Formats: sequence, structure tokens, C-alpha cells
Amino acid sequence: MKFVVVTGGVLSGLGKGISTSSIGVLLKSRGLNISPVKIDPYLNVDAGTMNPYQHGEVFVLDDGAEVDLDLGNYERFLDMNLTGEHNITTGKVYRAVIEKERRGDYLGKTVQIIPHVTDQIKEMVRAVGSKEKADIVLIEVGGTVGDIEGMPFVEALRQLALEEGKENVLFVHTTLVPIMGAVGEQKTKPTQQSVRELRSMGVQPSAIIARGERSLEPEIKQKIAFFCDVPVEGVISAPDATTIYDVPLIFDGQGLTDYILERLHLQPKGEDLKEWRAYLERLKNPKGEVTIALVGKYTHLKDSYISHIEAFHHAAAAAGVHVTIKWVESMDIEKRGTSMLEGVGGILVPGGFGDRGIEGKIKAIEFARENEIPFQGVCLGFQLATVEFARHALGFDDANSTEFNPKTKAPVIDLLPEQRGVKSMGATMRLGAHLVDVDADSKTAKLYAEEPVKERHRHRYEVNPEYIAKLEAAGLRYVGRSDGARRMEVLELRGHPYFVASQFHPELKSRPLRPSPLHLGLVQAAAKSK
Ligand code: GLN
Repeated sequence: MKFVVVTGGVLSGLGKGISTSSIGVLLKSRGLNISPVKIDPYLNVDAGTMNPYQHGEVFVLDDGAEVDLDLGNYERFLDMNLTGEHNITTGKVYRAVIEKERRGDYLGKTVQIIPHVTDQIKEMVRAVGSKEKADIVLIEVGGTVGDIEGMPFVEALRQLALEEGKENVLFVHTTLVPIMGAVGEQKTKPTQQSVRELRSMGVQPSAIIARGERSLEPEIKQKIAFFCDVPVEGVISAPDATTIYDVPLIFDGQGLTDYILERLHLQPKGEDLKEWRAYLERLKNPKGEVTIALVGKYTHLKDSYISHIEAFHHAAAAAGVHVTIKWVESMDIEKRGTSMLEGVGGILVPGGFGDRGIEGKIKAIEFARENEIPFQGVCLGFQLATVEFARHALGFDDANSTEFNPKTKAPVIDLLPEQRGVKSMGATMRLGAHLVDVDADSKTAKLYAEEPVKERHRHRYEVNPEYIAKLEAAGLRYVGRSDGARRMEVLELRGHPYFVASQFHPELKSRPLRPSPLHLGLVQAAAKSK
């Protein structure tokens, strides 16, 4: 088993996750079995309790693990389903060490960061690879080298390289090469300094990925190679790309794949990026254009909706159109009305928590329903489509979810029965992939074609069964159900061109070559309605 470790320098937000995913794609394209691992040096056990506004979307895996959004990038790029073990946090590491200490596993010893915490980290990293019989464990270290939180991880990976042998562990460092001044000179000093920081921890990178507006000038590559003690073939430009799905090809074009394989003494096998190139071809040659309004409340941080953005890219390529997302803050609809929705081809109301912006989302749904604009609701969007219909089609004026109004006279959305006793907030929602039965004569069934509908969930509330008969009599159809038809999972509106909402999150399983069926349905309906 070999290990490739990706660290980050200079500043955050350089696209380390995309670089890591791209390296994964390239190694996989040579027939190798890749196991990606994201290290997050925060004390939270998982990302489930973190605010999307600060940290971006919480991604959910089949097994119900709530993880960093980079796991979503790995799944999309590598087209694989991961488990919670692929996300190692400081919280998980310390919890395991403290449990061992209490059990007496370290009896007599003083428990310390080195070796006990670092041993735990190595154990977790190796365990993922062994379980999956990986050829290469691809590890991304979150944060920036030099952060106090990240130090035990960098130290553990340094020890790993010593134990496994230098030819089995390769470090890739991602940095920034800013362009300064009127002549547009590429500056290497931040890269030199962050590599020096990494070397002071005993880690010598074998490759440097330099982010910047433009490709590195040849002499700048040479300079970085010389100052950072890396062969020039190991210095890779990562210029701004038109789409993130270009990045693997940008790296491969500079010889990164062969370079990594050589360094790890692996025999390069034939390359297979055919499907990847074909996908890019479709993505870049659209035959039409549609605009989808995304009505959310975390719209200032686009990472909060990253899986939807990507699902629309996948759907766009499949539908042969270009999708532009129009970002609409639901509070703005509350203040200024729905005029900003006029002219859009489709409307998406995604998931969310808390009552801020709820009424704006309900207005957007009403607008889509009345004006026959293709509409997709996801999770909270599904719940609010039910609320909107109860209010305006059934005349239950104060209908609501008890999440937002516990005293409503028409609690059409209510807490899941098994949530009633739940006090602790971490990992206690209804989570992960569950099978959904879909009525054969629905739009949803057609979109999923032969596939079983097994989608991922993350919620505490659901449609209150007491109201289903009334809602259905007025024209809403619950066409998808789970758990022996106990829970409502998908709704469609009779007589509307496309009004489909799901309690589950189809965006989480969307892949470049297998787009989310419900996002594709929305994009196709939007393209048709033009
Ligand atoms: N807040 C809602 C619930 O907990 C919706 C959750 C979501 O959109 N992910 O059920």
C-alpha cells in the first residue's frame, strides 16, 4: 500500500480538495484502487454540528456519516461511495485515544500527543486503506501548514513516511503564486516560505501544485524547483480553470501522473480518461441555456450549496444545455416580492434549518406553482411545498412545520416520532441512504428509470400523516414513500409541468456521468418550457 499526502500552504481556499480529487482521478485512470481520506483538524467529532454559513455544506454519506464537503468532491470525481471512516477529525482521534485511556489500554503510561495521538492517526489512516485493499491511500490534510491544530497530523504523516519507507509515501504541497505589479510578475516567495515551514516539520514535498491566475512561466517553475528542492517535473501549474472537471487534464498534461507513479515505484498502466473527456466535451458544448433560481438563505457562501451546483453541472451536460444559477436570497423575496424570479426557467428550494427566510421560500414555491414554472424542492424545500399547498390550496392559513411554529393549528410537517426524546444534537437526525418506493406512473419513476431509488437523508421533521388524505384530495400526490409507506418522500403536483420535491437529497449522489435524476428532470423541464 502506498500513500499520497496533500498539504496546503500560504492560505486556505486554494482548491486543495479539487487538487486532491484530481490526483485521485489520474491515479484511478491508471487502474489503481484509490482510497481517499480527508483529515480535518477541528475538535468537532464530525461536521454535522457545524454551520454551513461558516464551513459550507455538510455532506452526508450512505452510512449516514455527516462529513466535510470535500468528501463530496472525492465521491463525484472518483465515482465511489465512501464511509465515515474516510473523514478523520481531531475530535474522532481524541475520542478514540481517551476511550483507550479509560479502558486501561495505556496502563502505566503518560498519554501524550507523541506517540499516542500520532499512533492513533496512523492507525486510522492505515485502517481505511487495508479495509478497502487500496493501492494508494490519498490523504488530504485540511487547513494550512503551520496551523497549531494541524501539527499532530503532519507529524503523524512524517512518522508514517519513516515507517513505510520513503518510496511508499509521497507528499504534494499546494501553494499560491500571486501575480504582482504592472508587469504581472509571478511571485514565488510565499511558496518558498510555506515549503520551508513544512520542511521544518521534517516533511520534504516531492511535488508542488502552484495555484495562480495563470500557468507558471518556465523560469518560475525552475525557481520554485531550485528553492524548494523539488525536481522541476514535480512543479505543477494550477491556473484558473473554466470548470473544476478540467483540473485532472491540466495536471496530466504536465506529466504529474507519471511523475507520481515513478516516484512511488509503481508501473504505469494504460490511461483511461475517455469518459472523463467525453463528459467535459458535453459540458463545454451546450446547445441551449437555462437559468435556475436557487432560493436559499446561505447564498453568500456558495459552498453551502456545492452539491447542488455540481448536480446542475452534471444535469447540464446530460441535457445538452448550459445552466446558469441565479442566486436568490429568500429574505430578499420577503422584502421585495417575487419579481426577481420572473423569467427564470426553473426554481430550486434546497434544504435548510431554522426559521429565517422561510416565508420567502414559501412565496417562491407559490410563484412556481401558480405560474407553472418548473420547480424542485429538496428536504426543507419539500416540507415547505407541503406547507405552501396546505395554506393556499387547502386554506389552512397558518399551516406550518412545528420546527418554525410549534403552536400552528395545522402542523402539516411535524417531528419524526423517534425524534421526540432526542436531546443530543450530534449525529441524531434521520441520516444516510434509505430505499424509497415510487409509484410507477409518476414523473419521478420515469426519471429514475431502472434504478432503485436509494437516496440520502438528513432531517428531523416529516409530513404529518394526518394531513395526507386532504392534501392529496386537493391535487398534491405523494408518489414516493419509505419504511413501509410510513414516511412521505416525494411529492408531485397534478397538472403542473414539473413540480417535484423530495424529502431526501438527490444532489448528494449526483455524479458527472450519473446526474441526479430530479435535477436532470428540472433542467429538462426548464429547457422545454422556453
Ligand atoms: N429542518 C428540516 C428538518 O430537520 C429540513 C432539513 C434539511 O433541509 N436538511 O427536517
